[in-house]
Amino acid sequence: MESRETDVLIVGAGLAGLSAAVAARQTGARVTLLERAPFEERGGNSRFSNGAMRAVYQGVEDIDPLVGGLTEDERKRADFGSYSREQYYEDIGRVTQYRSEITMAEMLVENSRSTMLWLARQGVRFLPLYEWQVHLADGSIKFSGGSAVEINGAGQGASDAMFAAAEREGVDILYDARAIRLIEDAEGVTGVVARQERREFEIHACAVILACGGFEANAEMRTRYLGPSWELAKVRGSRFNTGDGLRMALDIGAMPFGNWSGCHSSSWDLNAPDVNELEYGTIFKRDDYLEGIVVNADGKRFFDEGADIRALTYAKLGRAILAQPGQVAWQIFDARGAERLHGEYRVRQSARFTAGTLEALVSQIEGIDRVAFLATVSEFNAAIRGDVPYDPARKDGRGTTGLAIPKSNWARAISEPPFEAYAVTCGITFTFGGLRVDSNCRVKDVDDRIIPGLFAAGEMIGGLFYFNYPGGSGLMSAAVSGKQASMAAAESKSRNASEQ
Ligand SMILES: Cc1cc2nc3c(=O)[nH]c(=O)nc-3n(C[C@H](O)[C@H](O)[C@H](O)COP(=O)(O)OP(=O)(O)OC[C@H]3O[C@@H](n4cnc5c(N)ncnc54)[C@H](O)[C@@H]3O)c2cc1C
Repeated sequence: MESRETDVLIVGAGLAGLSAAVAARQTGARVTLLERAPFEERGGNSRFSNGAMRAVYQGVEDIDPLVGGLTEDERKRADFGSYSREQYYEDIGRVTQYRSEITMAEMLVENSRSTMLWLARQGVRFLPLYEWQVHLADGSIKFSGGSAVEINGAGQGASDAMFAAAEREGVDILYDARAIRLIEDAEGVTGVVARQERREFEIHACAVILACGGFEANAEMRTRYLGPSWELAKVRGSRFNTGDGLRMALDIGAMPFGNWSGCHSSSWDLNAPDVNELEYGTIFKRDDYLEGIVVNADGKRFFDEGADIRALTYAKLGRAILAQPGQVAWQIFDARGAERLHGEYRVRQSARFTAGTLEALVSQIEGIDRVAFLATVSEFNAAIRGDVPYDPARKDGRGTTGLAIPKSNWARAISEPPFEAYAVTCGITFTFGGLRVDSNCRVKDVDDRIIPGLFAAGEMIGGLFYFNYPGGSGLMSAAVSGKQASMAAAESKSRNASEQ
């Protein structure tokens, strides 16, 4: 079998793999990057993403260098607030029901700020994330919730910038190259066997960094680990993340860790294809449930639409929808709610219904209990606390009283025509189960010992997210862990060199 050699071998060219590759080259190591996708589809989920990033910042002065200088007008209009380390830990703890492994949370939080600055130095451009913030009637914008910046050009922008950096630094990138198994000897992992078309070859390296995503695009593994019906979820990102890296590592005795039955999944248009395509990007996301109510085929509400801000609730909504009859639900808005919907709701592919009355609206929807639906809307409208003013700028406490399933904030009657309904289902983003790694991303085996030469980064790391995740921390974790893994990998390369 043909054989090649390198110092640091990285599997997967999403943000984790690209960050690892660029950082490893900057230590002087020879770096080879294997990407399973062809050139045109390179970049993994990172390229599909919205580009929101969650990092610690002390105030507007920390935002300024990331976005290349705010204008006077931006400074005047926007109140950026701050996002402390303590708040980041608290958000991770709260949404993961305090299960997040502290070493993993520390790696993310403590390196978030420095990694943002490092990404900016590699050519990634950032913008204030105005879309996720609260826009007040006087035109001012109030930042809250932690994700203050997004990548200019979203996932595509991140991917373009980091591929350009990798090429500039001299990373050897092989496309259409799928890693299929790890090579090990008595000393540890020494390379991988990969396949390009039908040809297999070996690449030997001092260190192997697995950065090839979770198993979100593998219907069989989804059903095996996440449970029944998960084969019916639609894939929001790359079709290439089929769990190869996890399988390869488990095959040599790596320890599985974290929430293997959990994943990030959100509300996704029913008309979306089973597996997303780059040309669609995020046009099928339907994350504005806060502005109305969501009902199932029984005509009933099934979760608290106003439990918390969007960034802390949207990533668990897909699972809730998948559990409904037919794996479908409808988001319902009146004219006031519809006015606040994001642009993607208006795309031509949207599974959308509109009508002047609720009766006419529901008569267009196949498969819903129409009588129960009308009763649900009346009960909801009657249960809203009229004594608390509606305030989109904060968790306003304008909830419902007496309903079995409350809406805790931002409750407004569904009463002003025209009315709109959007059919949604579960879109899976990425899986939470992964490998057990230490704070340098070194993979451990089932006896809790380091497997020499093997590292993992990005979605492949277990123990960080459980049940839910704070929006913007997927890309952050990918960049932080990729960089962290490459530092440790480059060290093991110099250790090997000095031992020879
Ligand atoms: C629609 C969407 C929107 C999102 N929006 C955001 C957001 O706004 N903010 C945020 O923080 N997160 C977001 N995320 C999540 C975020 O994209 C991921 O958490 C992050 O990109 C993971 O990076 P990664 O490098 O680990 O994986 P990926 O970017 O998925 O990269 C994995 C790479 O491995 C390659 N690969 C797979 N198997 C093999 C193999 N056997 N051999 C070689 N290569 C292989 C794949 O081709 C791919 O390039 C979003 C995700 C999606 C799908």
